[in-house]
Amino acid sequence: MTESTTETCLFCRIVRGEIPAGRLRESPDSLAIADISPQAPHHCLLIPKRHATDIGEFMKGPRAAEEMADLLAVGLGLVAEKGLSERGYRLVVNTGREGGQTVPHLHIHLLAGREMGWPPG
Ligand code: 5GP
Repeated sequence: MTESTTETCLFCRIVRGEIPAGRLRESPDSLAIADISPQAPHHCLLIPKRHATDIGEFMKGPRAAEEMADLLAVGLGLVAEKGLSERGYRLVVNTGREGGQTVPHLHIHLLAGREMGWPPG
């Protein structure tokens, strides 16, 4: 995973509309999109619009708590809209190389619609 600037960052480019994506829900601070390579029947990415490489960097921002609450609210809006809470779902934040992160812009995976294993691989 290489560092990227807001100019070249894949998710910043999706947020700006320069790269097409299945936009599912949006707020002034957050965007939810369909994952291009879904790992479950429902696989969305909750993306903060402010660029930060990972959750540690993101949480240093002056409005981070508010932005994170908004990001989770956007995700829970999708959970409600798709009726996922009865069967359950998983939120995942891969961080860094050993954490399995491949896109260096914080995002939360929302996965649902199949039985999940534990521990994750
Ligand atoms: P990570 O591996 O960083 O936790 O997750 C990155 C996710 O972004 C992966 O699930 C991958 O399928 C998804 N992804 C990568 N490129 C694109 C893209 O161009 N569009 C969309 N919608 N998802 C992408």
